Amino acid sequence: MAEAGKKTRQFRAEVRKVLHILTNSLYTNREIFLRELISNASDALDKLRYRMNRGEKPRYDDVPLEIRIHLDKEAKTLTIADTGLGMTADELVDNLGTIAKSGSEQFLAELATAQEGKNADTKSEDASNIIGRFGVGFYSVFMVASKVEVTSRPAFGDDETANVWTSDGLGTFTIAAADCEKQQQGTIVKAWLKDDATEFLEKFRVESVIRKHSAFVPFPVYVDDSQVNTQPALWREPKFNITKDQYSAFYKAITYDAKDPLDVLHFSADAPVQFNALLFTPDGEQDFFGAERDAWGLDLYARRVLIQHRNQELLPEYLAFLKGVVDTEDLPLNISRETLQENVVLRKINQVLVKQTLSHLEKLVKDDTEKYERFWKLHGRIFKLGYNDFANRERITALLRFNSSTMADADALTSLDAYMERAQEGQKTFWYIVAPNREAARLNPHMERFHRKGIEVLWLYEPVDEFVMDGLGTYKEWTFKSAETAADNALDSFADKEQPAHEAVAPLSEEEQSSFDALLARMKDILGDKVKEVRVSHRLADSPAVLVAPDGGMSSSMEKFLKVMRKDDTLPVKVLEVNRDHPLLRNMLRMFRADSEDRTLADMTRSLFDSSLLLDGYLKDPQELAARSRKLLEEAAAWYTEVRKL
Ligand code: ADP
Ligand code: MG
Repeated sequence: MAEAGKKTRQFRAEVRKVLHILTNSLYTNREIFLRELISNASDALDKLRYRMNRGEKPRYDDVPLEIRIHLDKEAKTLTIADTGLGMTADELVDNLGTIAKSGSEQFLAELATAQEGKNADTKSEDASNIIGRFGVGFYSVFMVASKVEVTSRPAFGDDETANVWTSDGLGTFTIAAADCEKQQQGTIVKAWLKDDATEFLEKFRVESVIRKHSAFVPFPVYVDDSQVNTQPALWREPKFNITKDQYSAFYKAITYDAKDPLDVLHFSADAPVQFNALLFTPDGEQDFFGAERDAWGLDLYARRVLIQHRNQELLPEYLAFLKGVVDTEDLPLNISRETLQENVVLRKINQVLVKQTLSHLEKLVKDDTEKYERFWKLHGRIFKLGYNDFANRERITALLRFNSSTMADADALTSLDAYMERAQEGQKTFWYIVAPNREAARLNPHMERFHRKGIEVLWLYEPVDEFVMDGLGTYKEWTFKSAETAADNALDSFADKEQPAHEAVAPLSEEEQSSFDALLARMKDILGDKVKEVRVSHRLADSPAVLVAPDGGMSSSMEKFLKVMRKDDTLPVKVLEVNRDHPLLRNMLRMFRADSEDRTLADMTRSLFDSSLLLDGYLKDPQELAARSRKLLEEAAAWYTEVRKL
């Protein structure tokens, strides 16, 4: 190695962290380091081929595009060489000395969850399985190697030189000039294997790892001069030739998922564009609203040549859960990635993919309800954003699933069509309530009159649902309405099916009624600006009180959502509705008639308001609420012992 000009550098902090974990705590499934090195080699070859297709001339254009692995038992080294794009000295430093910050953070976070076994889905999965996903794949070589040398020479550019990067995977690496004679273009990674990793010097072992993890690499891979991978482009094969295992293996190879896919959709189309598609639905959730925001798209091929990884023009966002490959005859190989945007061919493919996927889901609903419901639980959150797709809205709406007030438990699901079948004579509205969970929906005071009338209410548990319901507008001429904002008389045309739980009380006399009106005014006084109005409710049966939006207002969950968006933490000013027939209110009336300034009455009014606020999901002043309810308890205990002469 050339000693002259050798420079030693520190790894960045995040790399040191990742390396430390890789070298010290991962001992199982270390074989995946091979997959990572081969996939880097394959990426480099892809990039070279792509630029050659666009007419650029590499330094040497007669070199075969391939990956060669060489095992040296005596020296205990494993070498993997590719004839791909290569790297300059600066690129070696950048690519192998740093990690995009988000990548290392995500990797460390997922690793922590996987190791604690917190996440049921990753529990059985070995931590080393997630390495490839976050741009830290190269470093996995240090699981098996005590020293690594990467010699590279770029295929393009003015910089003719070859350079060598060397490290023991601890704190530092060096960069030095290397001998160009040895290398035309591309990269050679040489790993000195640790004593406990010499299994990777065995040809049969290395070959079996490659067959397992890298069978679909689109360039020939040789081990000590014999080719290992012979898999054709699976998506171009006729369906009946392909086994379930082959589909699974392919899926795992492109996604790094340890689980089999939930579902496969494989088809080809000829009009309006020719293409083959092989699409998978993962059997696990993805966090499109957080860390994996941009981690979607399909691999786009033109005549078996990879044009772009994770192309997002091919799918609408609501199908982001799909993984896989599209290969078309109708794009030129030399198309630039920039011009892929707004491309007509891709737009047409997108439309066909949507239609095919929707038909496939519709078929699943009929043929395999269980699988469909699993799909819904895993991917419904993103799929329901399809309410935005006007052209396909009717079909998408029919595929939506909901929990509801008539379902046995939180896992049960209904379609809107099934809801319509169960609905009351004359009902033309899908009623819904958005609540944080089933228990909260069940206890929502707005549910009471729907219970009484035997009207089913869809229970939605995510803030986005409100936008979905708003956006849907109508379905089969039925409208969507929040039970919270329903008008007083909205359910008048439906007969009562159930009586309130507490006994019916005698109506108030005229005189009592006017005292009650005065009580309402007094309550408004006590609460001041916290409420817009205090009035008698016509929607309650068992609850003493409820907060409602002033007429024409929005539902509480929508309001909360907007407040979060606006970072507004003030409390909404609403109308407090009280149940005139509830025993609590009747007793408060007696207290009021005895002494309109009663201090306990004032405390009760405030507590009633606080508990309604709490049910609405707001609680700004827990200290005050707790202090007040303790005071009431203290008084109640005193009275109780007094009355019962204990
Ligand atoms: P990722 O492949 O997800 O980007 P890696 O840690 O595997 O993350 O690799 C880091 C980077 O190093 C790659 O993005 C690439 O730029 C560069 N690299 C690694 N191996 C090679 C190779 N054989 N040829 C060219 N570049 C490579
Ligand atoms: Mg990689």
